[in-house]
Amino acid sequence: MSLQERDKKHLWHPLTQYKLKPKHTAIVKGEGASLWDEDGKEYIDAIASWYTCMYGHCHPNIIESVHQQMQRLDHVTFSGLTHEPAIALGEELMKILPSNQQKIYFADNGSTAVETGIKMALQYFFNKGEKRNRIIALENGFHGDTFGAMSVSGLSVYNGPFEDFLIQVERIPVPFRENVEAVKQQLESIVQDGSTAAFVYEPLVQGAAAMQMHEPEHLDALLKIAKQHGVLTIADEIMTGFGKTGKHFASDHIKTKPDIICLSKSLSGGMLPMAITSCTQEVFDAFYDDEVSKGFFHAHTYSANPVCCSAALASIKLLQTEEMQANIKRVTAAHRAFDQKIKNHPKVASTRQCGVIYALDVISDMARYGAERDQLFNFFMKKGVFLRPLGHTIYILAPFVITDAQLEKVYAVIEEALEIL
Ligand SMILES: *Cc1c(COP(=O)(O)O)cnc(C)c1O
Repeated sequence: MSLQERDKKHLWHPLTQYKLKPKHTAIVKGEGASLWDEDGKEYIDAIASWYTCMYGHCHPNIIESVHQQMQRLDHVTFSGLTHEPAIALGEELMKILPSNQQKIYFADNGSTAVETGIKMALQYFFNKGEKRNRIIALENGFHGDTFGAMSVSGLSVYNGPFEDFLIQVERIPVPFRENVEAVKQQLESIVQDGSTAAFVYEPLVQGAAAMQMHEPEHLDALLKIAKQHGVLTIADEIMTGFGKTGKHFASDHIKTKPDIICLSKSLSGGMLPMAITSCTQEVFDAFYDDEVSKGFFHAHTYSANPVCCSAALASIKLLQTEEMQANIKRVTAAHRAFDQKIKNHPKVASTRQCGVIYALDVISDMARYGAERDQLFNFFMKKGVFLRPLGHTIYILAPFVITDAQLEKVYAVIEEALEIL
């Protein structure tokens, strides 16, 4: 029996309606920007497996770091004990995070990093004796699938069954040149009563909203208003973090720095699951008290797992190499050249780019997970390119190490797809 057939027996994959008889291609090997299925067919991983393995699949430096660590110490409870990999990771993150960040809190996936950020913000005010229970988020944002994270996600594609159970969130539009004054006014009127605890946002690029982009200065105008009213700002950099926007973090493009930052995905280079919520000294200090209950009583069993930390340490080292920084510039320039070529194509409605993130909207009204979208997905797979179109948006977010030849192939297959649409 093939892996694909065995898979069907007991496994339940995410984001899947089984009645539509989906097939799950079984992948057996990954290297650089390439994946191989059980029949030996090669695919270019043009979305870096959800933006995780930006340094390439199975990078030898990450393997070596993990291999070394797993022989020394596998896991130890992070409540009451500590270890070198977590300490070193904290130190390395401090060197690259926005300079107002001081403390590192560990979780194991993006959703729980956001959950942590929200709980931190709510308890921050609770501890200070200030009654603030409102959270603000951007329309069409995506922050994860646990209840708190789902609540702040405006992009509630299939949240129907849970809506009655979500926490209350005020949503404001993403700011653009045309609406920024109106959004500023809307935000002012919401925060005026002093009951807003936090403003959660994906800086510069809303990933799950099909890579929708906005300008730093427009977001900055909103962050300034939040700060003026004592609202904690939570940057969800789970997708944008670690070089994808051309700087280490999307927040580096924006003047006003967040109070809390959520990180995951390429934090550990796709090797192991890990997430972090960082915060300022000021946030931390609100939990520092003679009263035990003012501490942050939120924990995950695998918090700061040493092996995951070692994967993250190797990843952060790779990010800062000259080679990786040159790759980021190379891929960014290649996308720019492709954009010049494709943006006036009659089937292309619009294009956008931020660093190595590139997206184009085709002229079509495909549903996010409909049959037509699946046809496009299948076409790409047949051609040996792993892309996941979102509705009528085709986006590329490949590992930084994708070769020029592989990039050319991704572009060529997209052009071909435009012809059959
Ligand atoms: C992927 C993602 C999340 C959720 O992370 P998970 O690890 O899938 O729970 C949250 N926010 C953003 C911006 C993401 O891209």
